[in-house]
Amino acid sequence: MKKHLLQLYTVVLMSFAAAPAFAEQCLQITLTGTQGGPPVFQGQAGAGTLVQYGTVESNCSDINLQFDTGRGTTQRLSQAKTPVGKLHAIFLTHMHSDHTEGLADMMQLRWHFGSGGPKVDLVCSADAPSPAGHVLSCAKLAVHIGDAFIQSGEMAQRLAENKKRLPGGPADLINLNLFNPEKKATEVWNKDDVVVTAIASRHIPGHVSYRVDTPAGSVVIGGDAGNDAPKPPRDSSTSAQVEKLAMGADVIVHSTIHPVMGPDKDSGFPPPIYFRQSSASDLGAMAKRTGSKHLMLTHLIPPMAAKQQGPYPIPGGGLTEDDYKSAVLDGGFDGNVIVGTDLKSLRLPQ
Ligand SMILES: [Zn+2]
Repeated sequence: MKKHLLQLYTVVLMSFAAAPAFAEQCLQITLTGTQGGPPVFQGQAGAGTLVQYGTVESNCSDINLQFDTGRGTTQRLSQAKTPVGKLHAIFLTHMHSDHTEGLADMMQLRWHFGSGGPKVDLVCSADAPSPAGHVLSCAKLAVHIGDAFIQSGEMAQRLAENKKRLPGGPADLINLNLFNPEKKATEVWNKDDVVVTAIASRHIPGHVSYRVDTPAGSVVIGGDAGNDAPKPPRDSSTSAQVEKLAMGADVIVHSTIHPVMGPDKDSGFPPPIYFRQSSASDLGAMAKRTGSKHLMLTHLIPPMAAKQQGPYPIPGGGLTEDDYKSAVLDGGFDGNVIVGTDLKSLRLPQ
């Protein structure tokens, strides 16, 4: 009996000795939506990227950050086993509906079942005036996020049924973190070991790109950034600010347009819209210069296999994964290229 106890004691001691001194940390990046622009193709969700950090034991999900919230984000988050209620912060790159329209749905769901809190941080650009006279306002998007449901009378009805819900609707659950984007990277959010920085980049007024740094790796979310020069002649279609932000980053996630949509290829796609996106080849060249190991192409224009981008036909028919990869290779990048489809994900360290 005594001998057995001693053996058990030894086994327990040995298993303690084998355990690492610190739990292993990981960073996980999941594309929650890869649709480029307002069209919809074969059920793809609108633009969005889930960035998670934590211990391997927690499946990297101690801190959950969502970048952009296109249509269907709620569904993709549920498939990624990260319900809307588990998000710590939401970051928006710009005020285009293909990046924001899922937010009303997400916040409404949080209001239904999470009115007791906590609030979610919404991090985005402060009001950005356009040269045309209007203002791009993330603050107004946030304040009015539940307006349609308030106006329909639904909110009053639900509040009458359950007084525990917040009286102002889903907007009451948003903790607004506005910042004035600059052409140098500035910190906009942090929690524990995770730091998020942002930089102003060109697409529409108020557009920003983000970088997340964690002990397990770093990722840049370019959004729809393009070069400050709105059309050629210029060195690249990519943004110099995004390049600065991405120096030494492990992963770049970026909206992508294939060169086949260019004005020289007869798709009829409007040149100003083509020129304000970053091309797959120029993204490859940028990723090589920044020394990044992984390039995740998302917000693909056109989607793989689509015969059209909205009303514009794809010259030569639907593109394949190899068409995107070879365009990146043309730019000289020989690292890991992930051509985005919904829920593709990458985990660091690999
Ligand atoms: Zn977009």
